[in-house]
Amino acid sequence: MVRVPFNRPFDTGKEMEYLQDALLKQTSSDGEYTKKVTGLLEDKVGQGRVLLTTSGTHALEMAAALMGLEPGDEVIMPSYTFPSTANAVMAQGARPVFADIEEDTLTLDPFDVERKITPATKGIFPVHYGGISCKMDKLREIADAHRLMVIEDAAQGVNARYQGRYLGTWGEMGCYSFHATKNYSSGEGGALVVNLDHNSVMERAKIIRQKGTNRHRFLQGEINHYSWVGWGSNYAPADLLMALLCARLEALDEITALRKATHEYYTQVLTPFLESGLNFTTIPFNCQSNYHLFYIVLPSELARKQVQRALGERGIEAVTHFVPLHLSSMGHTLGGRKGQLPVTERVSEGLLRLPLYTGMTQGEREYVAVNLLEILKKGNRTWL
Ligand SMILES: *Cc1c(COP(=O)(O)O)cnc(C)c1O
Repeated sequence: MVRVPFNRPFDTGKEMEYLQDALLKQTSSDGEYTKKVTGLLEDKVGQGRVLLTTSGTHALEMAAALMGLEPGDEVIMPSYTFPSTANAVMAQGARPVFADIEEDTLTLDPFDVERKITPATKGIFPVHYGGISCKMDKLREIADAHRLMVIEDAAQGVNARYQGRYLGTWGEMGCYSFHATKNYSSGEGGALVVNLDHNSVMERAKIIRQKGTNRHRFLQGEINHYSWVGWGSNYAPADLLMALLCARLEALDEITALRKATHEYYTQVLTPFLESGLNFTTIPFNCQSNYHLFYIVLPSELARKQVQRALGERGIEAVTHFVPLHLSSMGHTLGGRKGQLPVTERVSEGLLRLPLYTGMTQGEREYVAVNLLEILKKGNRTWL
């Protein structure tokens, strides 16, 4: 039987060469490859400055710390996200407040965000789902009107754009992930993009990233030894991993094109099902995707399970995604209850992600599509 996994790692061919080179150089962090990768990312983000981190989670933690959140503060975010978005806020003693998402892009609904603003609200953490942007112009407007900070969880949004502008550069700060499941990966890794036009924010960010020390000034030759100057942690990635990431980011256009081919193929074969009301990944005209994932949303949890099982029996690994945070056991302790966020709840039950990885062959794409169509047609009456 043909087996099509959900994800499969992709090598560009340069990995071993860069890794060997990095091994010879024996740098811990902030070596040559960290500089190179920072440069590659800064070329994309315009005025933004980039600090590489050990993970997307840690980039979010740094951003929340830099916002100056205090206990009692509230931050609005989608419930349909990974726990890291909420954990970052909670680590500062602040409270995540969950808003609903829009049916067409599964990203924050600006109207629901506006409804959830209180005098305690300090920020908005939009999540760009699957490389497709939130309505950032609208969210920016709301944030500016209420003097809120915007921190983008662009973990899935590296190299994607909204109205031509890169995700991660619309907010005061943006957070990227290079986890193994993301488009451009080093196994673990992330980046914080600082768009605020303040040197002081970058200065504080560098201190937080290097264990609360001014090591960055020492590395620049500005001081003779470094010491403890404030609160911090260790968010700097090993240069070895950045060598791996360097190989992938240099091949960023190739990786994106390969994913696009699968994305477009799925779109083309599923388009006839639009009439029967099947909801699947669509890219709004003002979004430029990085083709991170491709989902379909079935009308019920039962239908989703049946389609998932039928695909599994044919060797195709399709997977669901987030458990809405407000319905998780942690979410319950924060007051989360079923019925609070109808779109989030419906989508999370019905959503199924199809296999999509960088080196996917035409044969694999066709195998997924042919089988999915067959299964969907058979279940037509109940599923669509
Ligand atoms: C992957 C992901 C994260 C976490 O990134 P890591 O690099 O795995 O820590 C956070 N938020 C979202 C939306 C993600 O998809």
